[in-house]
Amino acid sequence: MTVEPKLNIVPFISVDHMMKLVLTVGIDTFLTELAAAIEEDFRRWPVFDKTPRVASHSREGVIELMPTSDGTLYGFKYVNGHPKNTHDGRQTVTAFGVLSDVGNGYPLLLSEMTILTALRTAATSALAAKYLARPNSRTMAIIGNGAQSEFQARAFRSLLGIDELRLFDIDPAATRKCTRNLTGLGFTIVECRSVADAVEGADIITTVTADKQYATILSDNHVGPGLHINAVGGDCPGKTEISKDVLLRSDIFVEYPPQTRIEGDIQQLPASHPVTELWQVMTGEAGGRINETQVTLFDSVGFAIEDFSALRYVRDKIGDLGMFTELDLLADPDDPRDLYGMLLRCEKTLKRPDGSICSWA
Ligand code: NAD
Repeated sequence: MTVEPKLNIVPFISVDHMMKLVLTVGIDTFLTELAAAIEEDFRRWPVFDKTPRVASHSREGVIELMPTSDGTLYGFKYVNGHPKNTHDGRQTVTAFGVLSDVGNGYPLLLSEMTILTALRTAATSALAAKYLARPNSRTMAIIGNGAQSEFQARAFRSLLGIDELRLFDIDPAATRKCTRNLTGLGFTIVECRSVADAVEGADIITTVTADKQYATILSDNHVGPGLHINAVGGDCPGKTEISKDVLLRSDIFVEYPPQTRIEGDIQQLPASHPVTELWQVMTGEAGGRINETQVTLFDSVGFAIEDFSALRYVRDKIGDLGMFTELDLLADPDDPRDLYGMLLRCEKTLKRPDGSICSWA
């Protein structure tokens, strides 16, 4: 069931609503259904408007707008990336988004997307790995144990059955937090002292660190044959995680090449370096993993279509569960051309006998 808005009212999903929605649906079910919605949209990739996201960079981070449309619905996300934010109690990544009706341009939904971004990033990563990792994969190293990490672990278990985790972060407190949050869910968790220790015996390596520099989290000696690398944290010009040697040894899969060439780990490679678009693997137009020894690498940066899928999935869910607030977002005069008259009528109701305005009435 979907929510048909009254003309002036837009359903607003707050952080509180989103948490209750995710918990009511169940985290694993939410991730699985969200991955299915993303896959459905990736399979109809050519119908979407596509553009690299519009980024405003500063020394401290980046603020980005991510729009797309399938001709019926339009969506955009506002998202930031500020690696030093956690030092003063803020998130590295926060986001909110809008889904609109292309027919009349009216918003259908305004939603928090900080939690939704973590879920959709994890769902996309696990979906890519479903096509690219060896089918018998059970163990994943997670390098970077911050806000995204548990979501990645849950999605990889839901979609691939990953049940052994090898965790490493330069901040041991982050690893302890990740272990604590994932304890009791059936994972075997090993806390590791280095990247080399973490990748030992792993079938999949997820890198999800935050640092605004050309970092080398994963070097050539860390990557054995047959591995799948889920490279999530290199998602901005001048911000990478994977050494060039590893990139040159891997078959690289991306969301939208014009954006990934600017933002992904492949910014280290010439623009002519071959990459495969993930949607083509899903439709069967391109191959994914072809043998047991190939190194596959998903150079994830996060693309607007994933946010679009997440917003339309959430819109379908809230109708059933009523988890939203009605937001008085759109002016709705009785006569659509009499916007000014609406202001005058409001003035009449607020005006005191002495002519001043009682704005709290
Ligand atoms: P966070 O700040 O909460 O966590 C990052 C963690 O990385 C921290 O615990 C930090 O100590 C650790 N770290 C930093 N340098 C490290 C290193 N050299 N080795 C090991 N650990 C290291 O950030 P987050 O919200 O978890 O996001 C992580 C990264 O993922 C960010 O770079 C963010 O931009 C990116 N991201 C990508 C997508 C996508 O779609 N690709 C979506 C969301 C976030």
